[in-house]
Amino acid sequence: TPEFGDALALFRHTRDRVPDRVALTYFDGRVTYGELDRLSDGLARYLAENKFGGGDRLAVYLQNVPQFVIALLAGWKLGGIVVPLNPMYRSHELSTILADAQPSAIVSSEVGWHDVMAEAARAAGVHTAVTTSELDLQTRHDSRLFARTERSPASDAVDLLEVARARQDRSPAEVTIAPSDIALLTYTSGTSGVPKGATNTHGNVSFNAQGFQRRAGDQDGAGIIALAPLFHITGMVCQLGAAFALGGRLDLAYRFEPGVVLDALAEHRPYYMIGPSTAYMALMNHPDVTAEHFASLELVYSGGAPLPSAVVETFRDRFGHYIRNGYGLTETTATATSVPSHLEAPVDESSGTLSVGIPTFDTVLRIADEDGADLPVGEVGEIVIEGPMVVPAYWNKPTETERGIPRGRLHTGDVGFMDSRGWFYVVDRKKDMISASGYKVWPREVEDVLYSHPAVREAAVVGVPDPYRGETVRAYVGLGDGRSATASELIDHCKQQLAAYKYPRRVEIVEELPKTTTGKILRRQLRDRAAEEQGAE
Ligand code: ATP
Repeated sequence: TPEFGDALALFRHTRDRVPDRVALTYFDGRVTYGELDRLSDGLARYLAENKFGGGDRLAVYLQNVPQFVIALLAGWKLGGIVVPLNPMYRSHELSTILADAQPSAIVSSEVGWHDVMAEAARAAGVHTAVTTSELDLQTRHDSRLFARTERSPASDAVDLLEVARARQDRSPAEVTIAPSDIALLTYTSGTSGVPKGATNTHGNVSFNAQGFQRRAGDQDGAGIIALAPLFHITGMVCQLGAAFALGGRLDLAYRFEPGVVLDALAEHRPYYMIGPSTAYMALMNHPDVTAEHFASLELVYSGGAPLPSAVVETFRDRFGHYIRNGYGLTETTATATSVPSHLEAPVDESSGTLSVGIPTFDTVLRIADEDGADLPVGEVGEIVIEGPMVVPAYWNKPTETERGIPRGRLHTGDVGFMDSRGWFYVVDRKKDMISASGYKVWPREVEDVLYSHPAVREAAVVGVPDPYRGETVRAYVGLGDGRSATASELIDHCKQQLAAYKYPRRVEIVEELPKTTTGKILRRQLRDRAAEEQGAE
């Protein structure tokens, strides 16, 4: 297979090779590679008529719908930079990001446009707006996902499919794209604070989009089910990018909803799936789930969030599939390490941590001490990553770039180690470390132990300020459907398996842990809540 320096060339190669193959499914709707190409030509023509050109930013504010992909390709065809926006974001997040990214055009859902985007776009000086009814390419209405809202089309924006269809037989002027050109401006998911824009180049995206092929072989035309949202780098690169590279089919279903995903699995019988561990937990807990739902899958990957080894074991026992771990950041354009498709990851004996795999092709991971010097095997330090998928810079942030990506080496803020065979382990995020009586406690280790309790569905561990110990360990736990356990049972369970300074002094049982829309548990919110409760006591 040829290697592609830019993400658009990767798509075009597939379009030439299999123009009539289905690229996307969306409920009952189907879009072929040829149709995607023509519709994105049409939208590109419209944007070009409105003065959108090379280097301009096109913000996309959509769920997992085919129009997302049409907009992405249209932006790229004009040499533009696509800025995916989390559709859950409201005015505060949107205005922060739009002020930083300064897009000249926006593609938004109609509902989102009416609700918040029109105002935010005006404030940011966006001059071209395209909206789309997200139901348009869909023939079956799914009440679990859509509340029917009758609204008149936005008068200050045009309709995506209308303008694209009207121009779909004319290609836009040809633009040359260099691998170093920015393809995406992706804002980090914000589990730790203010979003920063990572500049994923065409080279970064293309390299990692082809990673699946490099790891798993050329599964021509493989079906991929989208668990992760396209606005997040995992969804964009490991799902959509992988589909482009394989001439594969991506099954989209608006947003993650476990029941809808189970139906889609049964209907489309995909080959490969990837999503955050919390998506697997949600699927496992669905009352209708059976092993049959996963019968067509050959490869099951988790990425973008910690994966407790207990979840992997339960999934295998119940459904016969081994979930392969992968690790990466927005800044590494998704994957930096993964578990090769023919291997299983080791579990570190002393901590119970499941390995995140080995570095992907051409990628170097180091474990560094506070001064940036390499640490020996087994020692815990900051993970530093170098490779063809590391972004060159943060958008508009030279100081952060200098600090976070000096000489192309990404300082991840994650703490981990390597074993003697070259497998890597992510211990935790540096800033989530708890210092209890002067001892280091890594929340993930305690969470892994909680997950091994049969009643626990989800768990998060945080440090709470304490006048005597500095910080104490507190856990928030959600229980599985029909399961019961008391706080003191869970404390005992941890006490039996962990050193005395590590087990949680208090366990709070909650309905649901706070999460980002990408499915990551928000420890930061729990930490604030715990500190507040502490203050009130
Ligand atoms: P922000 O940077 O705003 O806090 P974020 O870090 O959640 O947001 P992402 O780039 O989506 O933004 O997430 C990358 C982080 O996710 C990594 O730094 C790491 O902490 C965590 N992560 C990803 N994959 C894994 C994994 N397999 N195991 C453990 N942690 C993981």
